[in-house]
Amino acid sequence: MQGRSHLLVGLAAGVVIDSLFHISGPALTGAHYVSLNLLVDKGVYYAAVALGALLPDIDNARSTLGQKLGVISKGIQRLAGHRTFFHSLLGLAFGSTLAIGIERVVSYLLDLRGYAFPANFVSSSHVFFFGVLFGCIFHIAADALTLGGVPLLWPYKQRFGFPPNSHWRFRTGSWPEFVIVWIIMFLVAAGIYNSIIVI
Ligand SMILES: [Zn+2]
Repeated sequence: MQGRSHLLVGLAAGVVIDSLFHISGPALTGAHYVSLNLLVDKGVYYAAVALGALLPDIDNARSTLGQKLGVISKGIQRLAGHRTFFHSLLGLAFGSTLAIGIERVVSYLLDLRGYAFPANFVSSSHVFFFGVLFGCIFHIAADALTLGGVPLLWPYKQRFGFPPNSHWRFRTGSWPEFVIVWIIMFLVAAGIYNSIIVI
């Protein structure tokens, strides 16, 4: 899938998970008082989901993240190849470990800027870590819908996809990708609209 599709699918799924489990704190819809701290918590969570949704394509120099990282992505692509380690369970474990490290930096930077409550929230709730983890999982799941599938058990080369028969899957960047992404967007928007009406 393309970077933009990954961002949209990742953030949409992030909204659904957050509305079910309130990972980034209480919901904004229906809240009597929205504090700056709560907004910062939500910002950290969605920034982490967005990062996670793009992270596996660090192995593709032409991807949205790859273009930003330049030589780093080119090096990774040359060394490992696209859709190998970073689209596997091992890569997921690596991304999660990386996220724990970045989470500490985020918490430190928030504290440094006077956001003591969000800094505390980030380090105690692991909202950044979960955001990146969810983003990576949604990315790999979305790529599994494409023709190429994903090598979940890398270094074992077998590629997995859904539906298992690759004839039913679509090519990255082709029209079914946009249809699927916009159907997901529509469902999430309908869900949010519905939850506001219910409240
Ligand atoms: Zn990918």
